[in-house]
Amino acid sequence: MTHATFVFDNSYARDLDGFYVSWQGDVAPAPRLLKLNRALALELGIDPDGLSDEQAARLFSGSQMPEGAAPLAQAYAGHQFGGFSPQLGDGRALLIGEVIDRNGHRRDIHLKGSGRTPFSRGGDGKATIGPVLREYIIGEAMHALGIPTTRALAAVATGEQVLRDTILPGAVLARVASSHIRVGTFQFFAARSEVGRLRQLTSYTIARHDPDLLENGDITGTAVLGFLSRVIERQAKLVAQWMLTGFIHGVMNTDNMTVSGETIDYGPCAFMEAYDPRTVFSSIDTHGRYAFGNQPAIAQWNLARLAEALLPLIDDNEAAAIERATEAINGFPVRFEAAWAAGMRAKMGLESAEDGDATLGAELLSCLQAREQSPALDYTLAFRRLAAVAGGLADHPGPTGEDGARFKAFTQAYKARLDRDAMPAERRITAMLAVNPLYIPRNHEVEEALAAAVAGDLAPFNRLLDVLSDPFTERAGLEAFAAPAPADFGPYRTFCGT
Ligand code: AMP
Ligand code: MG
Repeated sequence: MTHATFVFDNSYARDLDGFYVSWQGDVAPAPRLLKLNRALALELGIDPDGLSDEQAARLFSGSQMPEGAAPLAQAYAGHQFGGFSPQLGDGRALLIGEVIDRNGHRRDIHLKGSGRTPFSRGGDGKATIGPVLREYIIGEAMHALGIPTTRALAAVATGEQVLRDTILPGAVLARVASSHIRVGTFQFFAARSEVGRLRQLTSYTIARHDPDLLENGDITGTAVLGFLSRVIERQAKLVAQWMLTGFIHGVMNTDNMTVSGETIDYGPCAFMEAYDPRTVFSSIDTHGRYAFGNQPAIAQWNLARLAEALLPLIDDNEAAAIERATEAINGFPVRFEAAWAAGMRAKMGLESAEDGDATLGAELLSCLQAREQSPALDYTLAFRRLAAVAGGLADHPGPTGEDGARFKAFTQAYKARLDRDAMPAERRITAMLAVNPLYIPRNHEVEEALAAAVAGDLAPFNRLLDVLSDPFTERAGLEAFAAPAPADFGPYRTFCGT
């Protein structure tokens, strides 16, 4: 059944008094709907046809709260680039409520850019069209790639001018998440030694995300440790998926890491083209803390901060709690490697598992990075070519002319490995094309679409979104969307100025 508006069930507001500040969004002077995610709206039980563009614009800019909403700014802390900030929180965002979607899953409806809150510190509480649509595109691309993520529900231009380096048009993003509970949410209460609240938050979170861990409703140390292990597992799988698709988050602060295992807070993120683990796009990541190749280690570091926050709930005896939590954290690399190896096997078209598969995959990556001519080779396209190699249509996964000794050796080893795998060739190729995308959000395409949108033309944005909604199926006429940036695009820089 669909409704004209949401049917809210606001558990965070109801159960976690003291963990947020109730707050209202600013009224936008001239809200204008830029985009509504109709399919997602339907999933949430709203009939998008029952909503005029004007109504949607008022609703998703925060100008008018729907009936049953309980808008609030969540408190959280976080380690930003390694340094602890005890108080961050929603400085320009509001959780407006939760709905149970058509599949029975609880989803947060959240606005970003809706105005100042008590957590704004020096900020203006605003967002602008470029970064809002950027989060829209990347999030939807991630979703289509099968990577857990928050999703954009709507983007609305506010009609307001926002001061950044220049004056930019303001916007609000309405997004959906399975929750907005972050590693930093736990850190907020742990840092204040509010153990009662920490317990209450943990109990709420376990009931929401891992209810099978609860024993008679109350949380034991074992349940808390079980919860920690679940978060470790979800993040290991998530970051393995990032690594397998060449995604760089760019700002993996602990306040930007969910316990649900969904990718959140798309800021200076981007997809890597030339394969190089040292790749950094973010202009503020001057030391490369969040470089592509560092992401697994940073995820583990962030999870260790979650473990620290949970210590008082794991065991009354601190030494025992530390021992148990450390053991869980030390399990991250094994889980990550397993997820990565399984994903790499699928990318290479292997059904069977051999110990050397991860090494074989790593050798392909070394080939891409260590080619004789610079720059390194495009990560995404190499795997489409690998499917051609598997099908006997190409000699090696490098582009024409790229057949150095190292590639030849890899290809020989790869073909020998295929011979030991029983999957029929035709099925193998189909399987490879279904996991190795052809269309990813290419940086130059994203920039072009955003520049046009800021100037008032949404056509390139809509077209890019449409291409990225089906990343695996090759379609005639979309060749340009599959191609890496032209050489004159230059080195790519992304900015946090959201
Ligand atoms: P982010 O880098 O977007 O993950 O944000 C980190 C923190 O800064 C969060 O607490 C945000 O709410 C806050 N923040 C970011 N931009 C603004 C802004 N324009 N106004 C107020 N707070 C902001
Ligand atoms: Mg954030």
